[in-house]
Amino acid sequence: MKRPEVFNLEDLRRWGSNPPLQLAVLGDPVAHSASPQMHMAALKQHGLPHTYGRIQIKPNDLREAIQTLSSIGFIGVNLTIPHKTAILPLLHSIDPHARVMGAVNTVVFKQGHLTGFNTDGPGLVRAVKEDFGVPLGLMHPLILGAGGGAGRAIALQCALEGCPEITLVNRTLEKAMTLAEEIRSLPNTAHPHPKVTVLQSDATALASQARRAEIILQCSSLGMQESDPSPLRANLLQKHHMVYDTIYSRETKLITDAKRRGLQTSDGLSMLLHQGALAFEIWFERAAPVEAMRGALIQFRTASLQ
Ligand code: NAP
Repeated sequence: MKRPEVFNLEDLRRWGSNPPLQLAVLGDPVAHSASPQMHMAALKQHGLPHTYGRIQIKPNDLREAIQTLSSIGFIGVNLTIPHKTAILPLLHSIDPHARVMGAVNTVVFKQGHLTGFNTDGPGLVRAVKEDFGVPLGLMHPLILGAGGGAGRAIALQCALEGCPEITLVNRTLEKAMTLAEEIRSLPNTAHPHPKVTVLQSDATALASQARRAEIILQCSSLGMQESDPSPLRANLLQKHHMVYDTIYSRETKLITDAKRRGLQTSDGLSMLLHQGALAFEIWFERAAPVEAMRGALIQFRTASLQ
């Protein structure tokens, strides 16, 4: 029988002590997730006999799903929208970094003990270093979409990395202002708190702030559809900018504009890759086979674009 693409709570209830998966991404929706391809490639590379799948879990069912997976011998899970904060009260311990981020994307199950981690921000840090050769913490990032989940994780990570200045840009100003307050009140960071500037997407001051920034981190969902405009006017892109768009499913207008101007660019595939590699390292306490995982992601993207 062909294995279904996406499992659900009913499947979990039926599995008993011999589940067809030992690792999974939980989300709602989750069918689009590339994590199974990436992690299956890693498991194969290391000769591990486990299976990683997708499980669609409604927000109200998260507790039962997590308890069931723990009791049937799961190794771990990744969490995506809308579970990254709802998981917190269901865990026995939370890694200090994930606690500061207020969100967990990776859980490890060990003899009924559940520990949560957050590899999203650290994944971006690895991606930026690999793609541009510069540590994120040395730069002034201009963060577009600093009101959503990705923008929040990335902005907090920038502060934790030691970015001296951060510019937050969002369509809804209030959300970016709330995020700025969160950054300013981060506890016990290894670096001084950054200077934070908050701007609405159409602010006139965006031109001067963009000039001062070194890296553009695009975290909004603008660009996921082919018809979407760029979240940043092309004439605000400067020769010295590095441009990172967290969208990885297609080349966005922002990336096309930046390439036309000869700027260094990269997309969110490397962030997805490195958050996955870090999760693998947490579950198996060994280095992740990054190139095998990258190959699987590129193949998945190519296939889904056809
Ligand atoms: P989200 O929580 O829904 O946030 C969406 C963000 O986009 C908000 O800042 C929102 O602004 C902004 N936005 C939406 N529509 C807009 C429009 N028409 N004009 C201007 N701004 C608009 O989503 P999310 O989870 O943060 O995800 C955002 C993006 O990050 C997605 O494209 C996703 O692919 C990407 N992502 C990538 C990775 C990776 O590993 N590469 C991981 C996570 C997310 P308002 O606050 O004004 O609504």
